[in-house]
Amino acid sequence: MSFSPSKREYYIERMFDNFKSVWYSLREIHSILREEGLKLAKATKTIRQALHYPPQYAAYFAANQVLFNLVVAFYFEVIQAHEGILALNNKGALTALEKLTHTTESNPNPIMPLTDLAPDIPAMFRRAAINAALGSARSFFSSLKKWRARKEKHEAKQTKKGKSRPFRVRPPVPPRSWNKAAPFYASLWRERCTRSIMLKVWTGSCWSWLKIHTLGRDLPDGDLMGSPQLVRKGDRWWLHTPIEKTFEAPAKVIEQLTAADTRICAVDLNLDHHLAVCSVQAVDGTILATSFIGNGTAVSGCRKKLLGRIARNRSQTGIIAENEQDNADLWAKIRHVDEQIAHLVSSRIVQFATKHGASILVFEHLGNLRPEQGKYSHRGNTKRAYWMKGRIFRYAKYKAWNVGGIITARVNPRNTSRECHHCHGLVVRYNQGQPQEGYTPGAALCFCPQCQMRDHADRNASLRVGQRLIERTQAPLKEKPHALVRRAKREPKGSGVGISQDAKRQMGPSIPAARRGDHANGHGTAQRGRRRMGAPLSDIASQLRIHFE
Ligand SMILES: [Zn+2]
Repeated sequence: MSFSPSKREYYIERMFDNFKSVWYSLREIHSILREEGLKLAKATKTIRQALHYPPQYAAYFAANQVLFNLVVAFYFEVIQAHEGILALNNKGALTALEKLTHTTESNPNPIMPLTDLAPDIPAMFRRAAINAALGSARSFFSSLKKWRARKEKHEAKQTKKGKSRPFRVRPPVPPRSWNKAAPFYASLWRERCTRSIMLKVWTGSCWSWLKIHTLGRDLPDGDLMGSPQLVRKGDRWWLHTPIEKTFEAPAKVIEQLTAADTRICAVDLNLDHHLAVCSVQAVDGTILATSFIGNGTAVSGCRKKLLGRIARNRSQTGIIAENEQDNADLWAKIRHVDEQIAHLVSSRIVQFATKHGASILVFEHLGNLRPEQGKYSHRGNTKRAYWMKGRIFRYAKYKAWNVGGIITARVNPRNTSRECHHCHGLVVRYNQGQPQEGYTPGAALCFCPQCQMRDHADRNASLRVGQRLIERTQAPLKEKPHALVRRAKREPKGSGVGISQDAKRQMGPSIPAARRGDHANGHGTAQRGRRRMGAPLSDIASQLRIHFE
């Protein structure tokens, strides 16, 4: 069977409309499920596959991408000329834009015909470009709208004050160049199997079907596959396929914390020793498992060695050329080591959480990076170790969500490693073989003079991180009290001491008063007293609880 081009296009569009009707019925099912209380959540990830293709294909892929961006730029201009289109939803906007640009029997004379730019562009290629242009236009015009609003507000304020300071914030500019990866909508690809795919590509002179071999991981079954994209990385082309997974949406953190069977996995990230220390606990505070992940010392040693080598090379070369990466191989190696470790650690964290049935991951907010003195390699190393913490958090967050809806939360990092997870008093931190006094930052062991708790310092910190989150359900103001509230609630001097002495009595007779004086000065005691004011019941409960080890 063979059709004339316009007829073929007509059939393709019909097919697309059929797809759409299936899509809308799926949406309907979704909304019904939602009404019945079964909320669905989505997780998307991208499968990246390296490709194997004859060398001349690289030029074809590039030509295809250039054409795609030309069409996107064209549609962006059309939208700029008809701003009203953005008031429509995506489907309406697509129809309106096609009416403006696409010649059909019922629409013989469009205002801005796309055929002026290039003839015989496939319908799905056009629609992909329209959607890309719509996305960019929506984001550009919304930031323009925000900018206009800010400007108006500024000018109104100036006239009220009788001054005339000009509004200096620059307006957003529309994209000057386009470099979007071209997606392949249905009908632009076919015969996809584990090791190959056929793509319809503009080669620079014609549209042709190319068979391309895919390498790397297989596509998972059972998930909704999006449109594949050809993406250039360096001088190679890759195929990116978004995969969408739907699952029952997890309840909000605060709702989960009120359910007795919820388990949370708290993570303490470090710069050295163990990169991550995770502990799983139930919402009543029962400690269920702990895991020490990663050897930070080895990672930082490796990185430091590489940085040192770069420094040495630089000192030997003397001048570094501008706009040119020196020691490119060594930098690439450092980047790859960091990336690899962040992926390993984050997936170990998520594995540990799933193994113990945790449904919430808790991290601390990252503190600020304190600039350090020292050699180039040392400064560069601490900076990268700090970035690594952020990267582990980001990766763990998306991996946890993708694994089936584990939610990630963050808590205030203040004093998590200084407080005892058992009685919330201040701990002593020391290294093996050292006297048990004072606070040595970064030391491995900790000891609580109030309740005689002894533990690994990072494990204690991770337990405190988890408790911080649980405390949210008990006293909403506890974690981060607003300055004004805090001032208003400050009790008269002396009362704090009274309360903490009460608490001391409940803790039992094992506390030598003299030692307490060493570590809890007047200020600290008052603070703890205040916290007790917030949640007296829970604290007593935590003191009576048996300490599981
Ligand atoms: Zn303690």
